[in-house]
Amino acid sequence: MSGKDKRFPLPLSSVVDKPSGRSQAQPSRPMAPRVATPQTATQNAALSLSRSSAPVIDAVQGRSVLRAAASNPVQIVRPEPMVSDAVRAAMVARVAKQGVKDAKVLAAMSAVPRHLFVEQGLSGQAYVDASLPIGHHQTISQPYIVARMIEVMRANANGGALNKVLEIGTGCGYQAAVLSLVAKEVYSIERIKPLHELAKSNLRPLRIANIRLQYGDGMLGLPQVAPFDGIILAAAGMEVPQALLDQLSIGGRLVAPVGAQRQVLQLIERVSKFEWTNTTLEDCHFVPLRPGVV
Ligand code: SAH
Repeated sequence: MSGKDKRFPLPLSSVVDKPSGRSQAQPSRPMAPRVATPQTATQNAALSLSRSSAPVIDAVQGRSVLRAAASNPVQIVRPEPMVSDAVRAAMVARVAKQGVKDAKVLAAMSAVPRHLFVEQGLSGQAYVDASLPIGHHQTISQPYIVARMIEVMRANANGGALNKVLEIGTGCGYQAAVLSLVAKEVYSIERIKPLHELAKSNLRPLRIANIRLQYGDGMLGLPQVAPFDGIILAAAGMEVPQALLDQLSIGGRLVAPVGAQRQVLQLIERVSKFEWTNTTLEDCHFVPLRPGVV
């Protein structure tokens, strides 16, 4: 089955742009660009917010600032992008100070509005360098580790070019959004249905054309779509499942936390059909990788 198959995996756009009854030959609004640029997410978010009648999220406080005037039914107040941009720039500067050097990764981190991926009550903390709860005993990963894993995955022999990448553990969808700015196609699998749904609704306003979300057990990977130039695991197992190693392209790079109480970040490179190399990078802390779906 090819990646273009309509049934699987689920294109985000097919979820977002639900036809109103009959199928439409032409989309009702301009399509987002097929190849994302570092600006795409914020541009699309701004575009969508300006078109949407949904409440606008205040960039800093995370408050709804939709206001009703006496004569006008609803007046939408634009968010303060400058404020959110400044807070996000400070987050990116910290990530760079912690050692992430890849300019493309830092640009992607600057472009994705992280506050839209955490619940409103926590959006004031969205740009601190910490993991935050997203429900179901899971967390959004800390900004540094998101950037670091993507940087390591990009350090390939193709100068960082990535065609297909796979993420195991979509969670709230934040890392998938960052990945969408450094890879041509992003596939992301989540085993907890409500989180898969959460990621869909978080990503919907950003209208990112190159993300495919899949509900399922990521330990099995996506053999229908493989091989992948890069695979990132956002949850830690005692070892990396062989199925995922088999789905790496030759020269592909997989980055995964491995361990239980003590976890280390590992880089696995596929050097030939039957050969992989393994490099241990640094200590880390992730939620556990679990089999099956819930
Ligand atoms: N990528 C997220 C991090 C999510 S936390 C971010 O952007 O911040 C890790 C996620 O991995 C959790 O949502 C958890 O449910 C999921 N997970 C754990 N085991 C999994 C598996 N076998 N398949 C798919 N997802 C899994």
